[in-house]
Amino acid sequence: MRKTELKINLSNLKHNINLIKKFTDADIQAVVKANSYGLNMSKVLETIEDDVESFSVITLTEAEEVRKLTTKPILLLQGVHQLDDYELIEKHKLDFVIHSSWQLNEIEKYNLSNSRIWLKINTGMNRLGINLDDFEELFKKVKSLNTSEIILMSHLSASSVKDDPHTLSQIKIFNDLVNGISCKKSLSNSGAVFNMPEAEHDIVRPGMAIYGGKYNEFGTKNVSSLTSQIISLRNIKAGERVGYDGTWQAKEDCIIGSIPIGYADGLPYFMKPITVSVNGKEFKTAGKLNMDLTLINFEQDSSIKIGDTVKLWDFDSDLSKVSEEFNTISYNLLTNISSRVTKNYLE
Ligand SMILES: *Cc1c(COP(=O)(O)O)cnc(C)c1O
Repeated sequence: MRKTELKINLSNLKHNINLIKKFTDADIQAVVKANSYGLNMSKVLETIEDDVESFSVITLTEAEEVRKLTTKPILLLQGVHQLDDYELIEKHKLDFVIHSSWQLNEIEKYNLSNSRIWLKINTGMNRLGINLDDFEELFKKVKSLNTSEIILMSHLSASSVKDDPHTLSQIKIFNDLVNGISCKKSLSNSGAVFNMPEAEHDIVRPGMAIYGGKYNEFGTKNVSSLTSQIISLRNIKAGERVGYDGTWQAKEDCIIGSIPIGYADGLPYFMKPITVSVNGKEFKTAGKLNMDLTLINFEQDSSIKIGDTVKLWDFDSDLSKVSEEFNTISYNLLTNISSRVTKNYLE
């Protein structure tokens, strides 16, 4: 069997949820979209269900999957994409966002008495959300519907930066608008949980903080480790070229190893060397990333053997730093991991 493996550490997951609880008194909505950021929704759900108030996802397929596992509220973060999506919302008793007025067309046709509406307000990210000018009218319309509850929400664009002025202005716009309205409110994503206690309100919506791919400086632990195993070693003479297009050339005699992981496994494509670790030592990749392989320059280290484990990252890695090498962000690293990679769990 190919030993290219994503290990998921469930006790680190539990640690992260407990850490979030130390930072906030608000209820926690665990964002489990995109298969829990690539880490397997069902295992994540099982581990943290008792700690959270609700879950959130993007697609109806994701919501149906979560609904099989829990009776807790499930929020569709983008609401309906087609008006007839309300049929499945009704059937599975889902919560949904209203971010645009078109999503209220024909909504009266459905029995949404088991759903909470999350009315999303654009406070300056200019992505999704109703305009401030339309709030009064649309809030009135939403209040006239037969739903179980209305929650007011917005999304922050730069909460991972402490005291980011744009984010502080978003918080003020939101607070000024909703102040005095007796609905529950929700503003904070992971970054705001740690950096912006003034954004807390009633429900916080952390995603990455739960998965530990960011915010290690606040105490989150990385939940995943990605490893592969050496399947080939060869001696190369100085001057020889390695890999596609021969872009990498040996400066001196060296040993080139191959591990069976490539961009089809979800590694972001790279052409420049990436750091990997074997038996506690760091080495650099050689040449361009392949679809199914990564090549590594072991220099003259003859202690490296076929079958040795190569770590792309480990539970003690800071994924923000790892992702910089790949010229991307940790969100992209995790959500990219393909179904071809074996997933195993540590309790
Ligand atoms: C994805 C998402 C979150 C979670 O963001 P993190 O940075 O992972 O905490 C929260 N709210 C909304 C609306 C989202 O789309």
